[in-house]
Amino acid sequence: MTATETAPAEAARDFIRDIIRADLDAKRHKTVVTRFPPEPNGYLHIGHAKSICLNFGVAEEFGGRCHLRFDDTNPTKEEQEYIDAIERDVRWLGFDWGQHLYHASDYFEQLYDWAEHLIRAGKAYVDDQTQEKLRATRGTLTEPGKNSPWRERNVEENLDLFRRMRAGEFENGARILRAKIDMAAGNINLRDPALYRILHASHPRTGDKWCIYPSYDFAHGQSDAIEGITHSICTLEFEDHRPLYDWLLDNLPVPSRPRQYEFARLNLSYTVLSKRVLTELVRGGHVKAWDDPRMPTLAGLRRRGVPPAAIRDFVKRIGVAKANSVVDMGLLEFSIREALNKTAARRMAVLRPLKVVIENYPAGKSEELEAANHPDDAAAGVRRVRFGRELYVEREDFMESPPKKFFRLSPGREVRLRYAYFIKCREAVKNAAGEVIELRCSYDPETRGGNTPPDGRKVQATLHWVSAADAVPAEVRLYNPLFTQTVPNAGDFAADLNPNSVEVLTDCRLEPALSKAKAGEPVQFERQGYFCPDPDSKPGRLVFNRTVGLRDTWAKVASGKDG
Ligand code: ATP
Ligand code: MG
Repeated sequence: MTATETAPAEAARDFIRDIIRADLDAKRHKTVVTRFPPEPNGYLHIGHAKSICLNFGVAEEFGGRCHLRFDDTNPTKEEQEYIDAIERDVRWLGFDWGQHLYHASDYFEQLYDWAEHLIRAGKAYVDDQTQEKLRATRGTLTEPGKNSPWRERNVEENLDLFRRMRAGEFENGARILRAKIDMAAGNINLRDPALYRILHASHPRTGDKWCIYPSYDFAHGQSDAIEGITHSICTLEFEDHRPLYDWLLDNLPVPSRPRQYEFARLNLSYTVLSKRVLTELVRGGHVKAWDDPRMPTLAGLRRRGVPPAAIRDFVKRIGVAKANSVVDMGLLEFSIREALNKTAARRMAVLRPLKVVIENYPAGKSEELEAANHPDDAAAGVRRVRFGRELYVEREDFMESPPKKFFRLSPGREVRLRYAYFIKCREAVKNAAGEVIELRCSYDPETRGGNTPPDGRKVQATLHWVSAADAVPAEVRLYNPLFTQTVPNAGDFAADLNPNSVEVLTDCRLEPALSKAKAGEPVQFERQGYFCPDPDSKPGRLVFNRTVGLRDTWAKVASGKDG
């Protein structure tokens, strides 16, 4: 899929929205209630953004509500840091759960009661088999599983053991509570799945109150039922779990009956959207942190300068379907450019400076020239940039012996300096190593503002520049794809990591107006791309991140280097 093939959808339409519309029209529900149910075991990534935009989006569109619910059933992997980050990121993306913040752990007492309910109904039993034994008797896709020797325990014994599990009498893994469904079921999820496991671990919210925790599968559907979720939207890998959720809802006195609908998860080229791999990238020091601008996390994208509107636009463009696919990173960047092009102020910055001395410009003189803040938006106003005898231009805008199609600076060539003057290069000064260190140029006073002179002379290139006396030094970080493969190997991902995923330029020169840019505020460095100040910036030491270049370079990223 390329950006030009997809028009931005006005009112989004997809199979989920069709189902909801039909349910509301047929009065099967008075209102729509959805939820976004993250496990607080990592930061949110752009795949989660798809789910967030869908769940909060349909609630908004159909006048319903969307809950934020932490599925916090696994205390060994969950942390308060993740809970805080998730709330921050959902808000940043532009959504609000109002009063509706919930946790699966809010329901631990109710879930426990329901587990006893199943035991009393003869539909759950305590199993003493070891982990290995449980795995070995589960069967395979082609072979049925084997019944546990503890499957026929009577209700009293099961209740007694389950209560003693709760009371902390047993070690981790000594026993589990299983649903009694069918060890020969074709769907492995129905082969007496685990409902409760013993875990002597402190929970971020319930502390040491519990030493048994419900399985994700036991908590999920019941939590939806407690909250009155009408449409329980999740990704395709849970399709096979639906029969289990339905079995549980059928066999428990739940207050409502949610229906689950599955959609395809987002996969994005040249990155990974697996919390496990993202966690390993952070823990293994392959990136600096969860908010490293190379990460596909919302925190990383934010730090990189991606506005939330760009992510929402991207999610709208990719739509919601049932077939898994890999979306081209170029499409995300298209949405980022679209959003930033409208809002980012234009500025001049020289990333790899080459000194220019204007020989016929008087030493000690300088003047202010007017520069537009946005070419298509007069309301954005103008700023003044200072011009003087010594300037910096981009090193790559000069070539001593240029090939035919190079129209920028070279000895004898005249170019326009944006908003300033025409300048002509006379000579390139070299150091002892033969490297060009300075250009000696002249300017034409009759071209002030960059205008064509009275003789009508034309130039074929317009360059950005900064005044040497006024420019502020800065570090600029350029980002390339984190991985070299369109679909990195999630197993041995280290081999697919791009060794050139960040390029740090430490000797950049920015026009002074940029020293006032605030963290996260997007700017366009003319001819270079969109950038934003990084929180690492300190007074006197600016650091900028490149959010995205001006053109689509994804066609040629295979080399691992940006074009
Ligand atoms: P885990 O492996 O830890 O379960 P997860 O990515 O599924 O990782 P959750 O916190 O369970 O993380 O996800 C919350 C919600 O986001 C779920 O409903 C899940 O289906 C959805 N989601 C996760 N990844 C994607 C993705 N790549 N595209 C769309 N939705 C996603
Ligand atoms: Mg999950």
